[in-house]
Amino acid sequence: MILFRSLGRRHLDGHKELSKHSDIITLSSKAGAKVYYPTFSPNNKPMNVLVKPGDKVKVGQKIMERTDFYVPIYSSVSGTVLADENVLSAQIGRQIKHLVIENDGLDELAEPLKTVNLDSSKEEIFAAIKEAGLVGMGGAGFPTYIKYQNPKGIDTLLVNGVECEPFITTDFITMSKEVEFLLTGCELLMKASGASKAIIAIKVHKDEQRDAIKAQLDAHPHISLVEVPDVYPMGWERALIKHVIKKEYNRLPAEAGVVINNGQTVLSLGKVLTTGRPVADRTVTVSGDAVKNPANVVCKIGTLASELIEACGGYVGGQTTLIPGGPMTGKAQTSDKFPIIMQMGALTILKYKEYKEEPCLRCGSCTAHCPAGLQPVEIRNAHKLKDTERMIKLNVMDCVSCGLCSYSCPSHIELTKTMDMAKTVVRFKLTQQAALEAAKKAAAEEKAKAAENK
Ligand code: SF4
Ligand code: SF4
Repeated sequence: MILFRSLGRRHLDGHKELSKHSDIITLSSKAGAKVYYPTFSPNNKPMNVLVKPGDKVKVGQKIMERTDFYVPIYSSVSGTVLADENVLSAQIGRQIKHLVIENDGLDELAEPLKTVNLDSSKEEIFAAIKEAGLVGMGGAGFPTYIKYQNPKGIDTLLVNGVECEPFITTDFITMSKEVEFLLTGCELLMKASGASKAIIAIKVHKDEQRDAIKAQLDAHPHISLVEVPDVYPMGWERALIKHVIKKEYNRLPAEAGVVINNGQTVLSLGKVLTTGRPVADRTVTVSGDAVKNPANVVCKIGTLASELIEACGGYVGGQTTLIPGGPMTGKAQTSDKFPIIMQMGALTILKYKEYKEEPCLRCGSCTAHCPAGLQPVEIRNAHKLKDTERMIKLNVMDCVSCGLCSYSCPSHIELTKTMDMAKTVVRFKLTQQAALEAAKKAAAEEKAKAAENK
């Protein structure tokens, strides 16, 4: 992949001031409140549910496990399991069955997980990371332990605190306030990966965050802090590795000797691994021009988005667009009755604007801005013609859905949406091809075996 062949980045108006200095709102544990857990993983695979209606659960008790990758899911409240309900999953984009727990308001704690420290072995730390149940809290939601499963040739742990999407300040807030856990997380992950150093990357002009972290770095000689330019998508891991480490890679950051994690993920790991308490709360930025009092809200995982919006004074200004995550990569939802999941760091609420799509001007702005070096307008044409081979040739699978092509298009063409649709078509074709190849191979092996047995 050719990175930043052209512009590939853009300064965006961040609107961070809307929530950055507002008082943090904490939604306290209330008897009778409900939390919701999707019973399907992001890959649409059913979870292995370990509790049933009527069961009493405690905070930090394992209630489900993913079946695609091993990821344990822990209850964020103590209370009673109710009957399943169909609720909107913002991630899957439709109503799916959710496990429901009614909070008893007592915050009774389950037995803690096994803790580790810097004297623990690499294997013990890995086992604790796996059992912590963390997924990337920057939005990707990828199970964190997988990056530490078989680390080879890792030299640097890169901590991504860039938070380059407009409006979002959750990493800024938590990384400024819980520096000790952030640095403990760095030390433990360095040991787990074999990295000799850690670099924490944040954006320029985040003075409070920079000063809070720098104030504690003396005690951690192998951890340093870098400030990166305020351009989008600097938080994309390829872009950040290229900027900070000056290396590119083909498939995985490990090829550049790097393991990379979001700042809040590292901080949360530092906390879970040393306290034995799985993540129950999530800090979510509720911001935008259509919410009354933008702020960061601390809530129990599984709380409905509508409760966070209400805590911020509700909607203002008529018709609104609600986006879980940031406006560049998030997908607008039709309802606010969806639960907060671990990787959901923001709810962006904007006044609805109607954009009329105009014909393409062939201006080249989308191509000039694509950080992955793609030609979105050509991919769009191939998608219109249902020309899957051409979409593959144009490397559509390298698209990271950053949203810059749509943002920079003067004709308001929804290119990113088309990129997503094109990727679905190509993925389907590639899966079909792989299945066909596997069937052919199996048939050939069967034939060879039969010949051998003759
Ligand atoms: S959404 Fe995809 S095609 Fe569009 S600019 Fe980003 S990476 Fe390029
Ligand atoms: S930015 Fe929009 S108008 Fe310009 S070439 Fe791309 S699709 Fe066409």
